[in-house]
Formats: sequence, C-alpha cells, structure tokens
Amino acid sequence: MRPRVLIPADRIASRVRGLGATIARDLAGGRDAPLLVLALLDGGFCFVADLARALPLPDVEIAFLRTSSYRGGTRSTGVVEREPVPSVAGRCVLIVDDILDTGRTLAAVRGDVLRAGAAAVRACVLLDKPARRIDADGRADYVGFTIPDVFVIGYGLDHAGSFRHLPDLCVLDEG
Ligand code: 5GP
Ligand code: MG
Repeated sequence: MRPRVLIPADRIASRVRGLGATIARDLAGGRDAPLLVLALLDGGFCFVADLARALPLPDVEIAFLRTSSYRGGTRSTGVVEREPVPSVAGRCVLIVDDILDTGRTLAAVRGDVLRAGAAAVRACVLLDKPARRIDADGRADYVGFTIPDVFVIGYGLDHAGSFRHLPDLCVLDEG
C-alpha cells in the first residue's frame, strides 16, 4: 500500500493557524481557570501539538486522554475504549481529536466530560468525514477540513501503528 497526498503539510499548517485564532477569539476570557485542552491520543498528537502553539492565549492547560476504537483495522469496532477524564469540574474544556468519523468517540468523551462537571465543552477536529456519521452527539464546533469517506494516514493518523510520522495527510492506495 502506497501513501498518496490528500492534504499537504503547508495547507495543514495554515488551516491550523486559522483554527487557533478562531478558537482563541471564541474561548478567551471571562473564566477563573484557563481553557483546558483535552487531547485525544494517539491520533491527535501532531494536531494538538500544532494547535496548542497556535492559540494566542496567555494560559492554557493541556491534558491527554487515550481513546481507541479501531484495534488495527480501517473500520471502527463501534466500542470506544477510553481512559477516565481528568478533573474538569467547572472548567471550559476543548476536546481535540484528529478525525470525526462515526461520531462515537466524541459523543463518548463529551458525555464523560459533562458528567465530570465541566462548565462548557467544545470540540475541535482536524478532519470531518460526515458521510459515516452514526452518533449525532459526535459533533465538532471547529473543523479543519471536511473530507470524503476515505481512510487517511499521516500527521498523527496511523494504519496498524504505521505512517503517523508522515508530514502530509495521505490516503492509502492499494498496490
Ligand atoms: P469515530 O469514533 O468518530 O468513528 O472515530 C474517531 C476515531 O477513529 C478517530 O479519533 C481516529 O482515531 C479513528 N479514525 C477514524 N477515521 C480514520 C481514518 O480515516 N484514518 C485513521 N487513521 N483513523 C481514523
Ligand atoms: Mg482518535
């Protein structure tokens, strides 16, 4: 299988800068505690590293949460395994994930964060594949790129653990 570039690194970089500016404008100020960015791993590691540094805010906290629904394949298993959320009571939480697909991951994590007493929850994803949405609670307030129903790799996203290091977002072509 060969990676074919879908979105090159320079387009990702400029879109991430734009998202950072928009999010900072929307979520700045008016709170006792700083914005808490909740980064979903493993796939979100490149995106959150860049997005966090594109947030022109004086104080931001970042926490990490491991989630998994794929078990090495290219189709969601439907069960979202996830760690317990950190302490978020009274906080404004921005959930950051690599890609919104069926919506199950964001729906599950958003529910956990709300049950843990967050004052406000927003979600930001780099990629949105609306064609495959199953759970309407899995929605994002901020989306980098809307893409068709293809399996993407690179910029943190993997196929069976490989390809996360690619700087571009790519599609795997057979052959
Ligand atoms: P959802 O729960 O919305 O179906 O899926 C979200 C998770 O599935 C994402 O966080 C991501 O880890 C994984 N995922 C969904 N689509 C893709 C894809 O095209 N490529 C990769 N590598 N992971 C995906
Ligand atoms: Mg993920």
